[in-house]
Amino acid sequence: MPPPPSFFLPEFRWQGAAVSVRFAPGALRLVAEEVTALNGRRALVLTTLDQADSGAALAAHLGGLAAGQFAGAVMHTPADVTDRAMAVLADARADCLVAIGGGSTIGLCKALALRTGLPQIVVPTTFAGSEATPILGQTENGEKTTLTDARVRPAAILYDPDLICTLPPAMAVSSALNAIAHAAEGLYARDRNPVSSLMAVEGIRAFVSALPAVLADPANRTAWAEGQYGAWLCGTVLGQVGMALHHKLCHVLGGAFNLPHAETHAVILPHAIACNEAAVPDLLAPLAALFGTATAAEGLARFARSLGAPTSLRGLGLREDQLDRAEELALQRPYWNPRPLDPATLRGLLRRAWAGDAPTP
Ligand code: NAD
Repeated sequence: MPPPPSFFLPEFRWQGAAVSVRFAPGALRLVAEEVTALNGRRALVLTTLDQADSGAALAAHLGGLAAGQFAGAVMHTPADVTDRAMAVLADARADCLVAIGGGSTIGLCKALALRTGLPQIVVPTTFAGSEATPILGQTENGEKTTLTDARVRPAAILYDPDLICTLPPAMAVSSALNAIAHAAEGLYARDRNPVSSLMAVEGIRAFVSALPAVLADPANRTAWAEGQYGAWLCGTVLGQVGMALHHKLCHVLGGAFNLPHAETHAVILPHAIACNEAAVPDLLAPLAALFGTATAAEGLARFARSLGAPTSLRGLGLREDQLDRAEELALQRPYWNPRPLDPATLRGLLRRAWAGDAPTP
């Protein structure tokens, strides 16, 4: 048996963040404790419209600490929704924010924190991992911009398997692949460190163990909890180190063609990893070992297929005549990638991802 990989680097930087992270069934009863720990007295509860009932249940647990509810979060944090939530926040005279939901609700919470400086407590109900990052993507006039700012990092995260287990299976799979993408790209990040790499491999391992079990038995709370553990690890990696080709492509495809966020990550991931594996096979070898496949890309593709994840951009609604524009946008602003990118490489990758072909370098 080969020795376990070493992630040691002779030179690196690790930047920790003061955040309280709890894994606890029945977490709603703990939210009041976290609000009080942050000196909060008037919490504004945030959700999507779909999850308004979860927000109401949370507010009921908060009792007198709940100052109001805004159930209007939507994907990609549009500025006009944040404006409307700001008005509710002001009326409620809120002094802290509590989000229960996926990346969309957490995005709204972060946008409000950026504008007001209020502390945030988040209860994630998908696997996307946004809760563990100081990153915020927002849209205005049809353009999505991303910023990194310590003020948007939540102060407390509560993971509760009882609150995520209502996630439809397809959404569980695609949001998990979104999280796995953070960890996979983290393994070859220029600014990776030994701890981020350890977290990345363990995060993906947790999902490889948890997802088939969640799909086989959605009542299996331990499997959901292990998936949440994976989401936290993978999200923490995203919050620590820079991303590359995969995240850039998903950003372009989501922003310009309005493709669904998590599903786009699911489709692109094996293709982006296959492309970069040609340049840094050693850095991705721990993933190939985890999957027991010749390459990390093959392992990721097989895993995604075994879970019934979407496999083609065509299936997500991208038209073939939009591929040229996607390629153009992906090359527009240069960014660091372990493999220098040229138009032919990108075109090949996008075409394979569009058609749902096997990933190749
Ligand atoms: P989402 O938050 O958009 O949720 C999708 C739908 O599922 C919503 O209608 C939501 O109400 C519903 N839902 C969520 N949890 C549920 C549950 N347990 N049961 C039933 N329904 C549930 O999906 P997402 O993939 O978590 O988030 C995507 C957004 O997150 C994108 O805007 C993306 O850019 C952002 N994101 C940001 C970061 C970051 O670090 N800034 C990281 C990952 C994703």
